[in-house]
Order: sequence, then C-alpha cells, then structure tokens
Amino acid sequence: MKPAAFEYHDPPTTAEACELLAQLGDEAKPLAGGQSLVPLMNMRLATPRHLIDLRNVAGLSDITISDTSVTMGSMTTQRQIELSPAIRKACPILTEATTHIAHFQIRQRGTIGGSIAHADPAAELPLITVLLDARIVARRADGTRSIPARGFFYSAFVTELDETEIVESIELPRLADGEGWAFEEFARRQGDFALVGVAATVTLTDGKYSGARLAVSGVASAPVLLPVAEHLVGERPSPALYRRVAAAVTAGLTPGGDIHATGEDRRDIAGHLTEVALAAATERALQLTDRPAGRR
Ligand SMILES: Cc1cc2nc3c(=O)[nH]c(=O)nc-3n(C[C@H](O)[C@H](O)[C@H](O)COP(=O)(O)OP(=O)(O)OC[C@H]3O[C@@H](n4cnc5c(N)ncnc54)[C@H](O)[C@@H]3O)c2cc1C
Repeated sequence: MKPAAFEYHDPPTTAEACELLAQLGDEAKPLAGGQSLVPLMNMRLATPRHLIDLRNVAGLSDITISDTSVTMGSMTTQRQIELSPAIRKACPILTEATTHIAHFQIRQRGTIGGSIAHADPAAELPLITVLLDARIVARRADGTRSIPARGFFYSAFVTELDETEIVESIELPRLADGEGWAFEEFARRQGDFALVGVAATVTLTDGKYSGARLAVSGVASAPVLLPVAEHLVGERPSPALYRRVAAAVTAGLTPGGDIHATGEDRRDIAGHLTEVALAAATERALQLTDRPAGRR
C-alpha cells in the first residue's frame, strides 16, 4: 500500500514549521515518528497534501528535569523516555506506562508529541498526562499557549489543538516524595493496544490515605479521571476497601463495545484493574514512607 502523493517539507526550526502550517492550513500535517500517521496515509485514511517533518527541528527532543517537573520536547521518542534514568527517578509511572506501548521498534520512532496529538483513546501517554494534569505547550506562528492535559483530549483523535499548532513540549509534575503509583493494563497480546489501562497514585499520612488520583483509558473516547480520593481519603488501606472503591467508581462507566470486547467486559476489566492498581500503589507508598526522602 502506498500513500497518495504529498509534498515533503523539512523545516529546521519550530518557527519555520509553524509558518508552514499557517500558510498551508488543513492541507498540511506535522510528521513526528510516523507510527500512526504513515499507516493511516498508506491506507488512504489520511491524505495530507503536505507533510511537515519535525525530525530535524532543533530543540524538540530535549528532556529537562527540575525539582518540580519533567519537561520533554514533543519529538522525545518513547524509547528515550523508557531508557531515561532521570525520568525513572522523577516520574516512574511515566517510565512504566511507556514500556507498555507497542513493541520497542515502534517506541524507537514513536514520540510523546505524536502520541498526545494523535489522541488514541487506548494510548498510554495521554492517560498519564491526564492523571498528572500535565501542561501541553502548543506553538503556532503568532505565539504559544500552555494547555492543561485535563482539558486537551475531547474525544477519539480530537483534541484542543488547532490545525495550525504544533505540540512543542509536555511538562509533567514530578511525583511527590512518598507518593505511591501503579500502572496496570490489559491487552490481548503483548504489544497490542490495551483494552483498558489504569494509572493511579496515592499518598498516606499516619497510615491513612491523604490523597489519591486514578485515571482509566479504553472506557470512553478519551481518558477518564475517576473520583477515588473522595472514597479513600481518611480511610486505612485494606483489600476490602480497594474492592469497594473499585466497584463504586467504575459502576457509572458506559464503555462502548467493539470486536475486541463488549462494553460490559471493559467495565469489568476497569473495575478489576482499579482494585489491583490501588493495592499496588498503596504497597509502594507504604514502602516509600520507610525510605529517606528523595528515593523512590
Ligand atoms: C503496530 C503498532 C502498535 C501500536 N501500539 C500502541 C500502543 O500500544 N499504545 C500507544 O499509545 N500507541 C501505540 N501505537 C502508536 C504509536 O505510539 C505512535 O508512535 C503514536 O501514536 C504517534 O506518535 P508518532 O510520533 O509516531 O506520530 P505520527 O504518526 O508522526 O503522528 C501522529 C499524529 O499526530 C500529529 N502530530 C505528530 N506530532 C505532532 C506535534 N508535535 N504537534 C502536532 N501534531 C503532531 C500528526 O500530524 C498525526 O496526525 C502503535 C503503533 C503501531 C504501528
């Protein structure tokens, strides 16, 4: 299968990439790792007349870690994220989630910016950005804006991004000292898109929950945050609590069915993975509270 004819552009700077997008409008698409866009073009499901390759744009693959955040240029590959010791230390849930994306050959080319802009409802990186409420910096010819991830994903493959904007960088807050985390997903085969994914963080103070976040993918057209904190805060951890909270927060989900799973199956899997993720995140938080600050 071959794509329809297109004109290829290779700008060296974000300013020039944005200028091209402004001139060409919806006839153009940015090209990042090509792991989603190229198959769509080969199947003629996407037929852009112009491709604006971001590969040689300077400064889009930098990873910067500060005391409070992890910032990655949009062309940072999934493999770079997976292999970065600094990211593993500052935001281990991001490392863990990234290892579940496809196979390493795909992660070698696929980028964080491409995954965020593509917005597949089953994808791991959008889920993590929603869980942690990342900031997505979008740039166009006349300026930049910072968009909260929780307001970025509208529905399957539809985002807040304007067609003249490129994702320039993604900034995730670091996990706090003592914050336990877990990432769980269910896929039919290793490397497949997950049917359902769950990401969670919890904090404990004096043996009781003082904070919790949990987000789920694969149960709606965009990642969903579930209100676990209101059930957990003030409670002491126990398997019975995980079961009760998982049942309560997933009861209202109404996922659609497809050839891979019915909607009911997806809701059941989300419930089970929520229970598992709460237990695993709590276990980590309990271990971390016994360790010196700064080590996770
Ligand atoms: C066999 C296979 C299995 C896969 N399994 C998984 C999986 O399990 N989980 C998962 O999350 N993904 C999976 N993927 C998708 C993979 O993660 C892609 O890399 C990712 O979805 C897109 O990233 P990319 O860099 O390849 O973007 P591209 O394919 O180059 O672009 C994707 C879309 O984003 C736009 N875009 C790209 N970069 C930018 C930018 N900086 N600003 C604005 N728009 C931009 C493009 O115009 C295009 O519309 C799989 C892919 C394949 C081929």
